[in-house]
Amino acid sequence: MNILITGASRGLGYELAAEALERGHAVIAGARGGGSVKLAKLSEEYGGGDRLAIAELDVTDEAGIQALAAKLKQEGRTLGAIINNAAILNARDTQIEDLDMADVAATFEINLYGPMRVAKHFLPLLTEENAAFFNISSESGCITNAYPGDYPYSISKTALNMFSEQLHRYLRPRGVQVLSIHPGWIKTDMGSERAPGDPRASARGILDLLERRVVPENHRFRFVDFTGKELPI
Ligand code: NDP
Repeated sequence: MNILITGASRGLGYELAAEALERGHAVIAGARGGGSVKLAKLSEEYGGGDRLAIAELDVTDEAGIQALAAKLKQEGRTLGAIINNAAILNARDTQIEDLDMADVAATFEINLYGPMRVAKHFLPLLTEENAAFFNISSESGCITNAYPGDYPYSISKTALNMFSEQLHRYLRPRGVQVLSIHPGWIKTDMGSERAPGDPRASARGILDLLERRVVPENHRFRFVDFTGKELPI
C-alpha cells in the first residue's frame, strides 16, 4: 500500500512512517523544510526513493499540496491511505480572557484546514483497495469530557472529528475506512517526556487499524483510540 503521512519529520508521524516501512508499505513522508535528520536516515535505510519518498508538504500551503498531488498523479502513483497527522498545540492553559486569537487562527490553519486541504487534493489519488483516510485527533476534542483550557487545540480537534464524520459518510460508498484517532498521551515533543505512552506502540495500533487487522468496535461515530476502542464524541 502507498501511504501518505503529514508531519512525518518527528513524533508520531515519524514512527508511523518507520512502522509502515517495516511492514512493507511504501511511504510518502510529508515534511516541511526538507524533513529531518531522522527521516533522511530512514530513507537511507530503505534505499531512498521508491519505498520512502520525502515530500515537501506544509499543510498550510494549498498551492504546494496541489503541486505535490499533481506530481504524484503524473508519476502514476496511487494511494491506499492518507494519514493527517501534522498538528500544533499552542496557548496551553491560557484562559479565554487572555487568548490571542492569532493562536486560534494558527491552530485551525494547521489542525483543521490542513487535513481539509489534504483531502481536497489527495482524495482523487486514494484509489487502492481497502483504502483508509485517518485524521489523528485527540481526546481533548471530546465534547463530553470538555475542560476549560487548550481552547485552540481542543476546538480544532472537535471540528476535525466532525470532518471525519462527514468524510466517512461521503466515502462509505467507495469502501474507504475513515477514522478520527486519538493516539494516546505519548512521548513526543508535543506530549512531553512526562507522557506514559510510546509513540511507536501507537503507530503499531494505527497501522493495525489501517491494515484492518483490528476492526473498530461497532460504534455510532468514527472516533476511536489507537486500539480501536470507541471514544465519546
Ligand atoms: P509533535 O509536535 O511531536 O510533531 C508535530 C509534527 O507536525 C511535526 O512533524 C511537525 O513538523 C508537523 N507540523 C507542524 N506544523 C506543520 C505544518 N504546517 N505542515 C506540516 N507539518 C507540520 O506532535 P506529535 O507527534 O505528538 O503529534 C502527532 C499527532 O498526534 C497530532 O495530530 C497531535 O495532535 C496528536 N496527538 C498527540 C498527543 C501526544 O500526547 N503527543 C496526544 C493526542 C493527540 P516540523 O518538524 O516541521 O515542525
